[in-house]
Amino acid sequence: MELGTSETIERILINENQLQAKVAELANQISIDYEGKNPLFVGILKGAFVFLSDLIRHVKIPAHVDFMQVSSYGSGTESSGIVKILKDLDISVEDRHVIIVEDIVDTGVTMQHLLELLSARKPASLAVCTLLDKKERRIVDVHLNYVGFEIPNAFVVGYGLDYAEFYRNLPFIGIPYKEVYE
Ligand code: 5GP
Repeated sequence: MELGTSETIERILINENQLQAKVAELANQISIDYEGKNPLFVGILKGAFVFLSDLIRHVKIPAHVDFMQVSSYGSGTESSGIVKILKDLDISVEDRHVIIVEDIVDTGVTMQHLLELLSARKPASLAVCTLLDKKERRIVDVHLNYVGFEIPNAFVVGYGLDYAEFYRNLPFIGIPYKEVYE
């Protein structure tokens, strides 16, 4: 079995249609909530790039997009708890209505760090939109304003999420066979 192929996926958790329907629903809600506010979407690289690119095309109000890259993971599947900025924003968040867009909130350590970091830069408001929420694994309490799907405690890939940089191109969210990453 070749790493990165769909044959190495044991189970599809969220299929393409379910993803597309949910992304449109989230974007519609955001368009209502942020009418007249010109929100700044902050995509967290690399995982959120697929979600954000789909989401933004359903947003019906004027909006800005920027990206940040932080790292809390090594090459494995467990968080190290250390969050570093690998790429900072180009656009200032001061007095802006900021929406952080993440692929998944797991322990919450990364998101808590991002919230602290961005709120110190004095945005007009700060919200979180995550495609996936692995609630069971939370160790720090973070408020999530928009959640696509709550998922069980399993390691997932696809739709931007990787294992060793593979699988980001799969159009669904799936659980790989354990042999793949153990
Ligand atoms: P946290 O700091 O909440 O523990 O972890 C957040 C980051 O861990 C996510 O942005 C993502 O990069 C990574 N992560 C957490 N769970 C998974 C998972 O099931 N699959 C993949 N591919 N990445 C995950």
